[in-house]
Amino acid sequence: MIRFENVSIAYDRKSKPALDNVSLDVQRGEFVFLVGSSGSGKSTLLRLVLREYKTPHGQVYVAGQNVANVPSWRVPKFRRGIGVVFQDFRLIQTKTVFANVAYAMQVLGKSRAAIRAEVPRVLELVGLEDKGHRKPTELSGGEQQRVAIARAIVNQPGILLADEPTGNLDPTTSAGIMEILDKINQNGTTVVMATHDDDIVNSMRKRVIELRHGKVVRDEVKAQYTSMMPIIPAAGEAAAVEPSEKNDAEPQTRRQRIVSATQASDAVDEESMPPRLERRRGQLPADDAAPAQKIDGLKNMNEDQK
Ligand code: ADP
Ligand code: MG
Repeated sequence: MIRFENVSIAYDRKSKPALDNVSLDVQRGEFVFLVGSSGSGKSTLLRLVLREYKTPHGQVYVAGQNVANVPSWRVPKFRRGIGVVFQDFRLIQTKTVFANVAYAMQVLGKSRAAIRAEVPRVLELVGLEDKGHRKPTELSGGEQQRVAIARAIVNQPGILLADEPTGNLDPTTSAGIMEILDKINQNGTTVVMATHDDDIVNSMRKRVIELRHGKVVRDEVKAQYTSMMPIIPAAGEAAAVEPSEKNDAEPQTRRQRIVSATQASDAVDEESMPPRLERRRGQLPADDAAPAQKIDGLKNMNEDQK
């Protein structure tokens, strides 16, 4: 569904590449977490899927199509196959919940009858069936994100990209958002979610692709935010085989709250350890816990009132 072949991109000539020789393959129907600290290249990768930039080096394929071959005039149509959700919701403040979702169908010229049928269906899917008449300002942060998700999926895209969708939400509300994304994925939509929320990643146990300085340093199924496996240095790189210690240092309380909210088991059980490890390179830094603390502060400022 999404395939990167040796993709590199730099925003300008002098700076280091935002993505550095990235190759990955996401199958139809997969749920993938894209993790890595701030600046590691997650948003850039999602932007390339949306063809916000033509890739200067390497190839990006979306649904079998090389995005470089999509002419500019066909880009809007190409993007209709991809729903997008952002950290800051991006709703139209003057429109009601219903109208925000309906708008995504109106711009595609969908009939009123289709809108009247589809909008209530997706509002129900996200648990907002009785809030259609409200304005975004009359909703909690979590509810606003649900509206944004409803809007992203109302045209039934094959792919949903979510860029830090829980970044402004408290852990309980975030868990509710994850349940919705999981449900959407189970209905067949391929989901790629960029995040640096380790609690969420650990509670979901999905495939994790980790970026560091624009490089893929891990691609692991049913994984946690930080690998518990020994790190395998790539050929030619300095040998540094040492397990990461982040999970030991992690505060347990927030994590447990998320787990109880999602009913998921987060126990680190040896048998459910990641069965395989691919493309693991380099060494994780000891200071990898810093971004999580930073986002905690952000969350406290934006405590969801729900
Ligand atoms: P993430 O989403 O993981 O935080 P980004 O993809 O936003 O990472 O950024 C990757 C790198 O590219 C960072 O070094 C960032 O500073 C740089 N970058 C991102 N967007 C731009 C931009 N519009 N112009 C210049 N540099 C950018
Ligand atoms: Mg980003």
